[in-house]
Amino acid sequence: MNVIYSKHFNISLGLLNYLHPFDGLKFGRIYESLKNRDDITFIAPAEPVDMAIVDEFLSSMMRKKVRDEVFIFRALEVPKIPFVSFDFLDRKILNPMRWGVAGTIFGAKKALELGGVYWNLSGGYHHAMQQNMEGFCIYNDIGICYQQLLKSGEIQPDDKILIIDTDAHHGNGNGYTFMENQNVTILDVYNAGIYPTSGYTRERVDIPVPLPPGTDGETYLSRFAEALDKIEGTYRLAFVVAGTDTLMTDKLGGLCLTIDEVAKREEMTLKSLAKYAIPAVVLGGGGYSKDSAKSVIQAISHCTALTLA
Ligand SMILES: [Zn+2]
Repeated sequence: MNVIYSKHFNISLGLLNYLHPFDGLKFGRIYESLKNRDDITFIAPAEPVDMAIVDEFLSSMMRKKVRDEVFIFRALEVPKIPFVSFDFLDRKILNPMRWGVAGTIFGAKKALELGGVYWNLSGGYHHAMQQNMEGFCIYNDIGICYQQLLKSGEIQPDDKILIIDTDAHHGNGNGYTFMENQNVTILDVYNAGIYPTSGYTRERVDIPVPLPPGTDGETYLSRFAEALDKIEGTYRLAFVVAGTDTLMTDKLGGLCLTIDEVAKREEMTLKSLAKYAIPAVVLGGGGYSKDSAKSVIQAISHCTALTLA
């Protein structure tokens, strides 16, 4: 398995770590646990995504908001702290996220060039969009990546692209970003009883799997299997938002999967992609429980042992 990790992914805020349930250091923990495995290759982007590239994606108003701590605090869902400057947030939180975006672009380029699966431990900011940032997502890495791949000619406007979003939350940012782009197919499995509830982005999902709060793993996986069966044809590239906030220990996701069931879910995703030989980049997405890192470690170990070809 090819796993994308940079030490720069990690978000360390000291005491401020307790302001948000997201474990900003989990990327390093996953790496430490898997780094000696000879069946896993770790690779890293050389630098964070440049703000000029982010700006190409954003609306003119968002180019200002993304540089203003008031709006950043709001998007991170933490109360504004008077003594914390934009520069601090930029260095401690936004720069790690730009490394995450770089990981997505790096993985997508590798997948297009060489085929197979590239697993970015970071990224998957599926609530961010051109016009807005919210839900702990500042930069829509899939949208930015798609735009850059078009620009470089690595994909063409009429290439079919697939997004499989198995994070517990609906990916409103991707729905909005690709609202008018019918060459992008979105499969989204989500808890229908939680944020974000915006109907118009839910309606954009091509293969929707809305689940009631508290859905168990068995139901989740059987509904997901039905959805995967609807994927057909040729796709140039797939993005997978593999959030671990579907774990029963996750207080934000509101679903009830075990660690083994999340690993099974990733197996089902990768087997479906392999069936049609679709190159893919897997993205970390959300995951706010103490078991998030453990779950990703288990999923990567499990999927590495599979024969996909
Ligand atoms: Zn989520």
